[in-house]
Amino acid sequence: MAGSEQIALLRELPAVDEMLRQPKINDLLLNHSRTEIVEAVRKVLDEMRAGILSGKIPAVDMEGIVDNVLHTVKQSAGPNLRAVINATGVILHTNLGRALLSDRARQAVARVSEGYCNLEIDLNTGKRGSRYSALEGLLTKLTGAEDALVVNNNASAVLLALGTLARGKEVIVSRGQLVEIGGSFRIPEVMAQSGARLVEVGTTNKTYPRDYEAAITEETGLLLNVHTSNYRIVGFTRETTVEELVQLGGRYSLPVMSDLGSGFLVDLSPYGLPQEPTVQETVKAGADVVTFSGDKLLGGPQAGIIVGKKHFIDKMKKNPLTRAVRIDKFTVAALEATLREYLHPDRVLQNVPTLRMLTEPLTSLHQKARQLAEIIAGKVGDMAEVAFEEGVSRVGGGAMPTADLPTGLVRVTPRNIPVERLVTSLRLGEPAVVGRVQEGSLLLDVRTLQKNDTEPLVQALLQALQSQ
Ligand SMILES: *Cc1c(COP(=O)(O)O)cnc(C)c1O
Repeated sequence: MAGSEQIALLRELPAVDEMLRQPKINDLLLNHSRTEIVEAVRKVLDEMRAGILSGKIPAVDMEGIVDNVLHTVKQSAGPNLRAVINATGVILHTNLGRALLSDRARQAVARVSEGYCNLEIDLNTGKRGSRYSALEGLLTKLTGAEDALVVNNNASAVLLALGTLARGKEVIVSRGQLVEIGGSFRIPEVMAQSGARLVEVGTTNKTYPRDYEAAITEETGLLLNVHTSNYRIVGFTRETTVEELVQLGGRYSLPVMSDLGSGFLVDLSPYGLPQEPTVQETVKAGADVVTFSGDKLLGGPQAGIIVGKKHFIDKMKKNPLTRAVRIDKFTVAALEATLREYLHPDRVLQNVPTLRMLTEPLTSLHQKARQLAEIIAGKVGDMAEVAFEEGVSRVGGGAMPTADLPTGLVRVTPRNIPVERLVTSLRLGEPAVVGRVQEGSLLLDVRTLQKNDTEPLVQALLQALQSQ
């Protein structure tokens, strides 16, 4: 039941027509349709009504309602998929779109969006070509594999590979490698979907070659190694290596597949990052098929890359599922350009944003954070306390889960509004800004800020601190 005060407030709410006569709202007709505006007015008035009834809105303020309508109209007219400034320090943030593309990759995508391209025509002969031909040569050169195929994402790459190599057969996997990769990608379920039967061997922490060997039967179709990319089993452990699986596979004429997850083409351990198996090493170890993501550590577009022995890749190309999970021209363009960056080891760490963010020196991060803290402090005055702080960034994207990347942070503690209010305003601002919250403060990690982010970030922060 609404109290008398609430009834009085509800009566104060303007009618739709009255709202439309407000000069600021009337001006919207220059750029927006009447329907759009009426819809926004109704939405805002409905929200007000609900707010009054729940006791959250204690007064009716006409100016506030008008501003709210202006904001609602602008927001519904703008794109739903919007740019976000990532101040979380999580480099491969799946919710924020994972890898950023290199300049060349972005240009390549723009080129094929603007005009026609030779996606499936061989310009030398004028005959029909393959959409994968732009990528095959680069992938085999960079990884040392005989052949390559690219599909929509690594989840579909694994599904396709299992379904082609082991449909109706048994696939042997270590119990320590039955991973779940967010969403609902779980090795046992993908296996079921592919039509292969999972045979688990060993224990969570130790699996020996003899465990695989004991499970081999007439029904076995494949030995599978899954890189536990998003977790680690530490302590008293023993995993069977790809080399050992390859030896075993050789003796029983069984193919060996390795799902690497995040596909590393360069070893970043000299930069203080954990040693991860590279694609080249895994190919060299003799794996028949290796799968990995395009938009994890490789730093390209979303894609599932399959490299390996020609005989197996040929079989996959003929599988009808390949057509269902094929990549589009934007992916071909972005991936080709990303792979070309890797042909220049001297500049790849600078040119591929994911690698650049992973390897940025601590001194540079600290310097950037100190500078940003100074700029912000200069703008926000006494609305917030601003300080430089040391902290830790994360790789994200389910990669290198144990890696702590030391970084520089800016701690912003608002004085006039609660931090939750600040965070919401930043998220709803233009551009949206996402950071981390800790004990009443907002933490901005400079590692994931891009070169043109400073100015809009500072503006957004200033606006959000002024919001009530
Ligand atoms: C991330 C990951 C996948 C799924 O890759 P997507 O490109 O996200 O589809 C599969 N396997 C492993 C081991 C992974 O780390």
